Amino acid sequence: MIIVPLGVASATPTATRHLSSVALWREGDIHLFDCGENAQMRMLQAGLKRSKIENIFISHFDVDHFSGLIGLISTLQLQRRENDLTVVGPKGIKEFLEWNIQFSKLDLGFTINYVEVEEGIESERVVDADEYYVEARPLNHTKFCLGYRFQEKDKPGKVDAEKAEKLGINKDEQYKALKAGDDVELEDGTVVKSYEIVGHPRPGDSFAYITDTKYCPNSVKLAMNTNILYHEATFSESLADKAAETGHSTSADAARVANEAQTKLLVISHFSARYTNPFILLQEAREKFFPAWLATELRPIFTNPSQEKGIVQQKVYIKEIDDKKSGDSRGKSSRGGSDRGKKNFRKRKSSSGRGRSSDRDRGSSSRRSRSDQGRKRRERSPKDYSDKRDNRDQKDSNEGTSRPPKHITPRTPFDDFDRF
Ligand SMILES: [Zn+2]
Repeated sequence: MIIVPLGVASATPTATRHLSSVALWREGDIHLFDCGENAQMRMLQAGLKRSKIENIFISHFDVDHFSGLIGLISTLQLQRRENDLTVVGPKGIKEFLEWNIQFSKLDLGFTINYVEVEEGIESERVVDADEYYVEARPLNHTKFCLGYRFQEKDKPGKVDAEKAEKLGINKDEQYKALKAGDDVELEDGTVVKSYEIVGHPRPGDSFAYITDTKYCPNSVKLAMNTNILYHEATFSESLADKAAETGHSTSADAARVANEAQTKLLVISHFSARYTNPFILLQEAREKFFPAWLATELRPIFTNPSQEKGIVQQKVYIKEIDDKKSGDSRGKSSRGGSDRGKKNFRKRKSSSGRGRSSDRDRGSSSRRSRSDQGRKRRERSPKDYSDKRDNRDQKDSNEGTSRPPKHITPRTPFDDFDRF
């Protein structure tokens, strides 16, 4: 199971963060949790095929969580999708999508199966496939909001082929029967018990998606013993009042759920735009629960890194936030227009001398190399893609081929990075 955050902003996008959406990759299929504006672009950038989407789960009807839906469905239609698509959400999701589809006269070549969840339910299994199921429970927000748990069903135990052969098992049907839990009688009358050959069933992977909500017992139930808990942390503890007022969690709330649910890994997301440096939130969460990570757009999180590393290859650089300086420069340039941002940058460049090379430091490759040696990775911000200065872009990509940036991917779900 691979989790790829596509948007980690709350309420409004910022220059560097997109609206809520997370992709879950499993055995080649993609399951999308929320679909904020730009989710389909972020999928492309993450190296995830939109045609592989099986299910879309919408948490609630705050616009930042579903504003990308109709655009995505239009793309699927233009791609001539034929497979069914399942869309799960609070009651009303069907009416909303059907109205939009009708209004824009989209002639869909595929069927959308709607699963609508009514208010007042305790819990509901909204999807039940052969190998996994998804459970929804209401959370505690200012409006009806659903949390989800994606649970792989237990996998059959491993067959000890060597032992089976020794005991005289040699036919496919016999293996099948043993795997299914049945005992097998051999020609000479001896009975080979299933448990002698087949190991314990292996527990399936699990993932909980919990946003937007205050702390509530249903969050803990959804997250119980999960491998990954993806939880909102809109505010820091110092704004607990505001969190309570707006129906959101602080990073400490997220850690509390993680603790009570005994999840293996907490990933926090849905950051308020006021935090140009969300590491404050991470620090707070880590005081109460470990391991905890920040959701970083396009950076995949694996539950089985040895098998899954390399499957999802992002098409663009992942923006790294690794020091306060870069946070400052981003803040300034996003306030001004792009020209103004460059002017600001030039000034800093001359005054700071040996200062850090930044995203917009296209002029000096020597400085760039120095920063690489120092393992201070500067990577392109989303702003770079819209830059019209083609020559400079060309130069950048040349540099890129001679010295490819190092992508950081976790080796195990418990890996820690000192830059956090
Ligand atoms: Zn939200």
